[in-house]
Amino acid sequence: MDINTIKNFTIKDYQNLYKNKESSPTEMTQFFLDRIRLLDPSLRAFLTIDETGALQRARELEEKKPGEADLPALYGIPIAIKDNICIQGLPTTCGSRILSNYRSPFDATVIEKIKKAGGIFLGKTNMDEFAMGSSTENSGFGPTRNPLDPNRVPGGSSGGSAASVAALEAPLALGSDTGGSVRQPAAFCGIVGLRPTYGRVSRYGLVSFASSLDQIGTLTRNVQDTLTLFSVISGQDNRDSTCAPYPPFSTSDYLPVDEVKNMKVGVAKEYFSLGVESVITQQIQEILKTLTNEGFEIIEVSLPHTDYALEAYYIVAPAEASSNLARYDGIAYGYRCNDPLNLQDLYTRTRTTGFGKETLRRIILGTYCLSSGYYDEFYLKGMQVRTLVKKDFEDSFEKCDILLTPVTPSLPFKFGEKSHDPYQMYLADVFTIPSAMAGIPALSLNCGYHQHLPIGLQVLGAPFQEGKILSFASFLEKILSVPPPDVDSINLKKEVL
Ligand code: GLN
Repeated sequence: MDINTIKNFTIKDYQNLYKNKESSPTEMTQFFLDRIRLLDPSLRAFLTIDETGALQRARELEEKKPGEADLPALYGIPIAIKDNICIQGLPTTCGSRILSNYRSPFDATVIEKIKKAGGIFLGKTNMDEFAMGSSTENSGFGPTRNPLDPNRVPGGSSGGSAASVAALEAPLALGSDTGGSVRQPAAFCGIVGLRPTYGRVSRYGLVSFASSLDQIGTLTRNVQDTLTLFSVISGQDNRDSTCAPYPPFSTSDYLPVDEVKNMKVGVAKEYFSLGVESVITQQIQEILKTLTNEGFEIIEVSLPHTDYALEAYYIVAPAEASSNLARYDGIAYGYRCNDPLNLQDLYTRTRTTGFGKETLRRIILGTYCLSSGYYDEFYLKGMQVRTLVKKDFEDSFEKCDILLTPVTPSLPFKFGEKSHDPYQMYLADVFTIPSAMAGIPALSLNCGYHQHLPIGLQVLGAPFQEGKILSFASFLEKILSVPPPDVDSINLKKEVL
């Protein structure tokens, strides 16, 4: 199989090869495993590679191949999974040393659904510890590199998933997005990332970071594949009480081109203020011109509480994290420190040696915010600000169908550039956090390159309006025709780290 043939493939194209007997799930799985073997020693997108399991599953699929008319949506398609989503029998480390010896005894709901749809799991991908970070530099197992420039970060926290798809080690991946962790790495790696509406995809089997914000999302090389993968994983689940009673996404939610052209496009001025690199603003201005020429109505809107969203997030998310992470105490599962003197020593040393610096920082911050007497002042205030942020979006979506914003204020940054200054790192998500706080769906699309580095465009919509977002993004993808990351020019052999 030639990489140049498949670099523009959609899921359907792989399945056409299978139908025409030009290839098979086993051959394709082997192809991706070979790419992983070739690239991953320097890319380091994977924490676990399940070669045996993937090939066995591919063979099983071939043995009981369904009729060609009713091939399930992901039949024979290999996929990479972020290491905070449980696959039975495989490790789930969450990028943390505290879970380095943990294996999941069950499948997450999304994994069950992908299995039913005929998908093949290649392995588990690297991430910032417990999904806290924007660069994968917080992984307890070393960072992932950006396939487009090995000196730079792939974004985070789903950096391993994004890098694996950009480098075509996998055609698709799942990530999780609490404040931007699907969209920001998608933007840094030049691919498509979707964060669905909060509650549209079950969180059962996703290890919790901040439960009121966490959402599983997709990483793909084109919008069509996002649609397919999202249709498979979405829908109500009785095992997650926050999962909305809403049917899975279906192709009937997708709008025809003439309806797309009637959409009103909103632009929020707060997203283009100081702090955005000029190449990003310029690229988006160009796109707005193209859209005007295509006959779109562009409307300026205001989201006045945008500035407060980041601060409120860094109260709400650490507060919830401090509670969720209390379970890693060396007793029930995971790592335990050596030779504890007593129970207190066991807890303390397990946690201080098992967790990394950023995770400990958030646990301390979150515990403080929730402590007696401070709850009202911090967590409650954070949640009140959150309501205002949500209200801003509700007001805007009265006036427009979708909003366009940058995904990130900067292009992919270099290793070490922000890791010494947590606030600088937090700012990497300044444009993805408000929508996460509001629980609305958002997609990141590669809208061009500056030199070799990709520029992300964010498409936001009202709750459960993924149909509008995906239809618009697909239209834009066609008219912009930005090539997906050039997998040929990947040069990971350069010595950099
Ligand atoms: N970078 C943000 C954080 O560190 C968002 C992370 C995420 O979405 N998981 O919290």
